[in-house]
Amino acid sequence: MTDDELPPYGFDTLAVRAGQTRTAEGEHSEPIFPTSSYVFQSAAEAAARFSGAEPGNIYSRFTNPTVRTFEQRLAALEGAESCVATASGMSAILVTCMGLLKSGDHIVSSRSVFGTTVVLFDTFMARFGITTTFVAQDDPQAWQQAVRPNTRMLFLETPSNPLTELADIRALADIAHHHDALLVVDNCFCTPALQRPLALGADVVVHSATKYLDGQGRCIGGAVLGDAERVGKNVFGALRTAGPSMSPFNAWVFLKGLETLRIRMNAHCSHALALATWLEQQASVERVFYPGLASHPQHQLAKRQMGDFGGIVAFEVRGGREGAWKVIDHTRLLSITANLGDTKTTITHPATTTHGRLTPEARAEAGIGDGLLRVAVGLEDVDDIMADLARGL
Ligand SMILES: *Cc1c(COP(=O)(O)O)cnc(C)c1O
Repeated sequence: MTDDELPPYGFDTLAVRAGQTRTAEGEHSEPIFPTSSYVFQSAAEAAARFSGAEPGNIYSRFTNPTVRTFEQRLAALEGAESCVATASGMSAILVTCMGLLKSGDHIVSSRSVFGTTVVLFDTFMARFGITTTFVAQDDPQAWQQAVRPNTRMLFLETPSNPLTELADIRALADIAHHHDALLVVDNCFCTPALQRPLALGADVVVHSATKYLDGQGRCIGGAVLGDAERVGKNVFGALRTAGPSMSPFNAWVFLKGLETLRIRMNAHCSHALALATWLEQQASVERVFYPGLASHPQHQLAKRQMGDFGGIVAFEVRGGREGAWKVIDHTRLLSITANLGDTKTTITHPATTTHGRLTPEARAEAGIGDGLLRVAVGLEDVDDIMADLARGL
């Protein structure tokens, strides 16, 4: 089944089948192509491939059939014209900047994006003359005010990590387009199973495939999605030249991950809602952060923008750092690790790990309290997850 033969299939069908072109061997499962280069029939064919006059494989830094199958499948799920797979989520953001920005440009970014993204913008992009202003995720007015004549990109992640604050994608797309800038959304926490930013007006979507797209904690990878000009040409050009490419083996693992994406995300979401609801009833829990709760300040926006509410739950326990560490140290089942989007439930204390390098003032401003815990809810029995947390609560 090639792409142009696809009738308008539903999401689940595309997740299982989009992008696969069977070889003459008639294999049912997608093959892995571990080859660095490709052989041409003639000198003329080689010349035509290299000049771009004829499509086809050249060299696996930028053309590999397994990687292409992953790209086409994810593009179908996000509703994108083009997809470029990358070696990691961070390199997806890097090649997006390299492909779409130049020295002198300005980025407005949510303050609540992944910590390494802040470092990439603030330290590394700044060295190449691209400056960034960070603003509050949930305040469209702050975004509006931060825009300058040279602003070319608005960047966000929604819901945020760990406090699950939302950004209004439609409102921020309007602000971006009014100023001739692009809206780039890191859709890692939702995946296209829960949220499709391009349909809400975003121009580019980036992914860390390492998280829910794999879903089983095995491989590092990423992707950039958008239209044929910006992503298919400009971001692809940066990837092809700079070379942070996805390996064919990893692409194959992610392809298998996509096949079960919807049913895994459904289970992550229903477990997370059950856990968040239960946590709200615990005496030692002061506050629960989960977009699916009626108590979440942006619950109405979450219902409009997301198909379901995701697998990340944060909560503040009484007793500050001591209270939070006690919960972690009494778990026997949950994994004490900062990764997320795995079948295995993980628990972290943001104030002393992911956000530990911030000053106490910056942490307070970001709302990361000493008693805050983040759980990335996995696929174990939710009763077992609750029992594991109850011990320390
Ligand atoms: C993990 C993560 C990244 C970075 O992805 P890597 O695959 O680790 O490079 C970017 N954004 C978000 C939201 C993430 O959670």
